[in-house]
Amino acid sequence: MKTIGLIAGMSWQSSVVYYELINRKVKEVLGGFHSCKNVMLTVDFAEIEKLQHENNWEALDNMMATAAMQLEKAGADIIILCTNTMHLCSEAIKKAITIPFLHIAEATAQKIKKQKIRKVALLGTKFTMEKDFYKEILRQHHIEVIIPTEEERTKIHTIIYGELVHGTIKDNSREIYKTIIKNLENRCAEGVILGCTEIPLLISDTDVDIPVFDTTTIHAESAVLWALKNS
Ligand code: GLU
Repeated sequence: MKTIGLIAGMSWQSSVVYYELINRKVKEVLGGFHSCKNVMLTVDFAEIEKLQHENNWEALDNMMATAAMQLEKAGADIIILCTNTMHLCSEAIKKAITIPFLHIAEATAQKIKKQKIRKVALLGTKFTMEKDFYKEILRQHHIEVIIPTEEERTKIHTIIYGELVHGTIKDNSREIYKTIIKNLENRCAEGVILGCTEIPLLISDTDVDIPVFDTTTIHAESAVLWALKNS
């Protein structure tokens, strides 16, 4: 098995889930005493969140590129970045390393295509919903993307940074998300991407009537399949 390098801590609430998922997946495929070979580098999310909201993507590019290089030096054979939003820095990461980088939107697009879904709703931080870096990859796979209204986007973003990244899970917030997803379904979304790695802490497929694409699970499991296939 190859070694997965994880850039983690954005937030650690979902990095814990990644760690569990990659180990569970290896155990599921190989059985016995098997667990996942990996190296994890965890950043301080306070520094990241501050720079994001100051719009200082140059500093974030440098931090993510440095983290990826450190993981490559530590023996990683592939890099995954355990957050959707920070994929804004994926070009800087790719330039800094000689090993593959598994993009979360690319892994998600593959999964959506397998289910023959053509129009999906995207939930995530405002960075992910409003900027083009993520939607563009889906569009390249001929997947049409719709996003919530401005008012809905503000609610989603506020719940992510105010609650989910702190591990706070509220029934009331789940209801807000469910209502927003219903509205997107009424706008003809055939599926919904949980495009923030903490949203699956709040919402699962049992809360929603249309297919749900949990990016944390999709990304973690795709990395494991790569590590096993390329061994
Ligand atoms: N984990 C989140 C995401 O998947 C949000 C936190 C961050 O800004 O990285 O987008």
